[in-house]
Order: sequence, then C-alpha cells, then structure tokens
Amino acid sequence: MSDIPLLPHVEAFLRRQHALFIDGGYVQSHSGQTLEATNPATGQVIAEVADADPADIDAAVASARRGFKHWSQVAPATRGTVLFKLADLMEQHREELAQIETCQSGKIIQISRAFEVDQAAHFLRYYAGWASKITGQTITPSLPSFAGERYTAFTLREPVGVVVGIVPWNFSTMIAIWKLASALVTGCSIIIKPSEFTPLTILRIAELAMEAGLPPGALNVLTGTGLVGKGLVEHPGTNKVSFTGSVPTGIAVGQSAMGAGLTRATLELGGKNSAGFLPDVDLDKAVSGIIEAGFLHSGQICAAAERFFVHRSQIEAVMDKLAQRLSALNIGSPLDERTEFGPVANRQHQLKLGAFFDRARAQNNRIVHGGRLIDRPGCYVEPTIILANGVDDTLLNEETFGPIATFLPYDTEEELLALMNNTPYGLSASLWTNDLGKALRMVPAIEAGTVWVNMHTLLDPAVPFGGSKSSGVGREFGAAFIEDYTELKSVMIRY
Ligand code: NAD
Repeated sequence: MSDIPLLPHVEAFLRRQHALFIDGGYVQSHSGQTLEATNPATGQVIAEVADADPADIDAAVASARRGFKHWSQVAPATRGTVLFKLADLMEQHREELAQIETCQSGKIIQISRAFEVDQAAHFLRYYAGWASKITGQTITPSLPSFAGERYTAFTLREPVGVVVGIVPWNFSTMIAIWKLASALVTGCSIIIKPSEFTPLTILRIAELAMEAGLPPGALNVLTGTGLVGKGLVEHPGTNKVSFTGSVPTGIAVGQSAMGAGLTRATLELGGKNSAGFLPDVDLDKAVSGIIEAGFLHSGQICAAAERFFVHRSQIEAVMDKLAQRLSALNIGSPLDERTEFGPVANRQHQLKLGAFFDRARAQNNRIVHGGRLIDRPGCYVEPTIILANGVDDTLLNEETFGPIATFLPYDTEEELLALMNNTPYGLSASLWTNDLGKALRMVPAIEAGTVWVNMHTLLDPAVPFGGSKSSGVGREFGAAFIEDYTELKSVMIRY
C-alpha cells in the first residue's frame, strides 16, 4: 500500500498563503485573520486560508454587482462558451484538482477524480448548453377592446442578480459547480462561500474560470466561517442565496434571507433517506445496492440512504452478507489508489459519529458490524451496521451523514411505505424490486424529491434534484433551476 506522489503544482498550491478571490484575482483580507485547513487522513494542517470579515464582504459584493452589470449583458452563447472552456480546463487539470480535493477532504482519490472533476465538468457542460435556450413566452390577453385597440404580452426571464452560493464540505467542487454554473449561465454573478473545512479546490477553480474568459467580479470566492455566509445573505447588495448544507443551518439561512428583504432562497438540505427492499430481490443484488446507497464516500452524501427496510424473512441474511462485504473493504489512505474506504471529513464529524455509536450502545441496539472509531492517525470510523429496536430509535431518525446503515424489518408493503415516510425529511428514497409494475404503483406513495428504483445516490444533470418536506426548497438541475435563478417579467402592450 502506498500513496501516489503529490504533483509539484499541488505541493506549491498548498504552501501558498491563500487570500480571498475578489474581482478576478487574490486580495488580502482586511483583518488578516486566517483559518487552518487540515487533512483528515493525517490530522496535519495543510494550508491556511483567509477568514473574511465584514469589510471583505462589502468588497466582494461591490465587485459582484459590477460583475453582474457586465456579465448580464454578455450574449448568452458567449456565456455558454466560457463555461464550456472552464469544463475543458478542469479536465486538463484533473489530477491537480483531484489531489487538492483529496488532501483537504479525505475523499479517496478515485472519487475525487470521478466526481469532483469528471462529473463536475459533465454538469458544467449541461448548464453551458442552456445558455442560448432560456426563453420567455408570448401571450394574447383577453382584455375588452372598445375602439379597436388590441393587446399582446410577453414574458422575459431576467437574471436575479448577485447570487450567494453557500457550499458544504462533502462535495466542495461539484456542489460549487452546480451553483456557479446555474448562476453564470442565466447571467447572474456569484460569490461562493465554501465550507471552512474545504476551502481550497474552489480557489483553484476560480483561477481557471478567469483563464476561461470569465470577467472579473462574475465569480468571487470568500473563504471563512458561517458568519461570512450569514453576512453575505443579509447584505443588501445580494439578491439570492443558493444554500446546500444541514437542516438547522438551512432554516437559519432561510430566515436570514427572508429578513433581508425577501432575498430569494434555494435550500438543499439534509435528510434521513430510506431504501426499501421487496422480498423478490436477489440477496447479493440487495447487498450491492446497500453499499451503493449507504457507503459510497463513507456515507457523506446528502442523498445517501441511512435507513434500510428489509423483509423480516431476509433481514438476517442481508445483514450477514453485508457484514462480510464490509469486512473485506480496503480501509486506508485516500491517496492510495487501492483504498476503497477512507476517513471521514474532519475531527468534529468523526466525534459526532462516535457519539452515535455510544447512543446505539446506550439504547441496546444490536451492532451487527463496526460501531467504533478506528485507532489510527486521521479521522477514521468503521463502516457500521446497526439493527434498530423500533421506529423511534435515534439511529433511524437523526441524520448521521456517515457510514452507518440502520436496519429495521417489515412484514407488509403497507408497513414498508409507512416506515419509509415516517420522517420529517424527504430528499431521496429508493425501492428495490424486480416487479416494475409494483414499483410504479408504490412510487407515488413515497414522500421524497427523488425516488430511485433499483439504484440509489446517482445524480444526473438532466433530472431535477431537491428536497420535499423538511429537506429543502427549490430544485437544481434539469430545466427546473431556471425558475430559481431568474425573475419572470411580464410585458403588456396596447396597440
Ligand atoms: P453546514 O450546514 O454545517 O454548513 C454548510 C455551509 O453553511 C458551510 O459553508 C458553513 O460555513 C455555512 N454556514 C454555517 N452557518 C451559516 C449561517 N448562519 N449562514 C450562512 N451560512 C452558514 O453543513 P455541512 O456540515 O458543511 O454539510 C453537511 C450537511 O449538508 C448534511 O446535513 C447534508 O445532508 C447536507 N447536504 C445536502 C445536500 C443536498 O443537495 N440536499 C448536499 C450535500 C450536503
């Protein structure tokens, strides 16, 4: 087992004193305050970034307002061309970006390459393709005509203005790309506020965006804590927030946005997603499905499943086979290409997962596999299987955002649907069966923004994504994002 060597570019990038990215280049923060970025695989500090203060927020917003004035007037097709170019540049710098991402987040290098670069570029191109296809409608009003006068009307889709994109740590690049691509293709400017745990990759992408031809101010990056996000949302110069993160922070962001004069808000929040297995599914396929649904990127995916409902006749066999598969996982350094399961993203998160294990023990849950922090440097936890005692168990109701699959048996399909819906959240769910007719009859009864059949977790830019119930407001991807990043203006004409 050995780590791949870091590229000299990556070493040099990490060694820099990272400033704020405002107006097309780096600007030192007014206060000079900094935050440390730590590699969760080693516990070592790998870089320092600026912690923006209110004066920096003012500077970034003023720049974004200028950027908006210019970028919103750029021809739509040109906007698309710039985004296509950025996607090309990301691919040209694939290894560099993937290594920075793995060093800051602990994501295994294969996932950094495949999702944070390849998938992010794929999403970027999808959005770029929309540039020249965003249109309004023409309408004929039915107003009375007294002297031969006539009426016509049309709608315009206008960019909403300066967008604040607040990003979590789990997919620091891909989620930032969803936000900046939606904003830039509709003619908005955007200020990205990355997570304090993963501030680095997006700074390098901002440099590439300038190389792609984006004008200064169209994309700014302000690093810092949640206070920076709050300051941006509440700033009178910003018009919309697109937030991805936890439910409590999302509710606070929504409240700040409404309090700041009805700033538009898209909220992509967490959940407690269900996967339900009907008894006709082959056991090995069920186990592979559970690994896809619950253990990819150590379960640190908002759409991942954490609650698994399996028919009573099969649950022991499924958990047993799953335990065997998890025992065989190659746990190790995320920079080793053979590693299948790496650390979680930071110490705070590792300790939160440890507290869930303690609660499971205190509640006498059966820990079928794992259930401990791993005693080695870095933030590792064991992939875990827990059998809940009943529907009210903590592990069946609170988001862990980690590699913990909690199981409960069911007896009837009605009971399965009731269990799947027994949560205030509704981001995603999956149903596993060979009977597609039955699946299609059950899908409408499942309360979630996305329902997968015989798959889980995989997102496509053409398919809208977002939460129902307490998992969010608004949709990303597909054509749905256009609603959220534009204002609809109606124009009526008498002639
Ligand atoms: P978090 O809510 O702690 O932080 C998210 C971001 O919000 C960070 O950049 C943080 O600095 C910022 N922030 C904190 N307080 C703020 C405030 N008052 N105002 C403005 N910004 C503030 O989330 P996290 O721990 O980084 O990410 C994990 C969570 O994100 C999980 O709950 C997960 O389910 C969710 N998530 C959801 C989706 C989705 O698409 N629905 C995708 C990924 C992650």
